[in-house]
Amino acid sequence: MESSDSGSLRSLRELNRGRVIDALRERGRASRAEIARATGLSRSTVSSIVSDLIDTGLLTEQRDALGVAYGEAGGRPPVLLSLDPSAGLAVGIDFGHTHLRVAVSDLSHEVLAETRHELDVDHSADQGLEAAVELVDQVLTEAKVDRNAVLGVGMGLPGPINRSTRTVGSSSILPGWVGVDAAAEMERRLRLPVHVENDANLGALAEYVWGSGKGRSDVIYIKLSSGVGAGLLLGGRLHEGAGGTAGEIGHTPAQQGTAICRCGSRGCLETVASARAIAEQLGASRGEPVSTQELLRLAAEGDPAAARLIAEAGREIGVALAGLCNLINPDCVIIGGDLSAAGELITEPIFESIRRYAITNAAEQVTVVAGVLGERAELLGALALVLHAGDGVLAPAGSPQEVAA
Ligand SMILES: [Zn+2]
Repeated sequence: MESSDSGSLRSLRELNRGRVIDALRERGRASRAEIARATGLSRSTVSSIVSDLIDTGLLTEQRDALGVAYGEAGGRPPVLLSLDPSAGLAVGIDFGHTHLRVAVSDLSHEVLAETRHELDVDHSADQGLEAAVELVDQVLTEAKVDRNAVLGVGMGLPGPINRSTRTVGSSSILPGWVGVDAAAEMERRLRLPVHVENDANLGALAEYVWGSGKGRSDVIYIKLSSGVGAGLLLGGRLHEGAGGTAGEIGHTPAQQGTAICRCGSRGCLETVASARAIAEQLGASRGEPVSTQELLRLAAEGDPAAARLIAEAGREIGVALAGLCNLINPDCVIIGGDLSAAGELITEPIFESIRRYAITNAAEQVTVVAGVLGERAELLGALALVLHAGDGVLAPAGSPQEVAA
């Protein structure tokens, strides 16, 4: 039987290994000394982890045409290391209001295995994290891949993530998660580096890498599901804001808004234009509850009330987006989330409002399109969080966390 001492030493080494991989993932190439500085680990710890990683094929030393490692002659500049793009894997976890999705992909973006699990709306963070750990094991087994090849885990949560405390903010629609440092909790359970981002930012990232935003540089992604949130890619870079809460467009005032919002304000865009708000209004007129799926089906069949409610929501969203178009002059607005399935029923009225309320130049340059990744957008964005950390799309990570021995 293993003593608890050797168990905790092993988990410490796994954590440190994750930090070394992380430092390389974010930098692309780095020397052992740079890795030591970035991680706060000692040179000898870094050297020992690096040789293990080279042995397992995850890391390579960069060599010139003659096969000499850069910097070998004369001992400087130092030998640069990089991750072998053919060897690593990424894990993505997407927590929704009522679902959990997990996938594993290789570094060429091919998804090797993927699974989905229903979650109780009122689940606690603990229940959610435990369920995710099981699904991670499941997809790794299904893909027949080695856990040691996982370079990192991207995780999406449907709420603002405070950048300094890394905790879920109070306006989250996951009440059981408020104040939880989800990345640290998941790192402890998986013993892999975990990066957390809010769902709208992940949707933006996914559409930018794989979908409607490909080849664009200034993209607004707006997610219309239970809540309303936006992800902003400015100059090809995800914009998180000073505290990590950029993009909370759902809590700007709507022209027709009167109801009290879950954030405490009155008349927020979310109270009139989220999929939930629209379905509730339609349900009230029909005298029975209407789900988002029924709302979308009725609208597609030409039900006048359903189509009207979606169009009205689109016009309100367009007013809020017109202001944003004036401010940041995007080339593309991508509609994601449940309501993206309404297609032109929602994109047309949004574009109409932008044309009406934004300055001509800004309105002429922007196209409004439905996202193409559907309900997988956030999951793919979680994978992109790992796969694209080194290429400048993401803001530099904060200072490394000390690991106490
Ligand atoms: Zn609000």
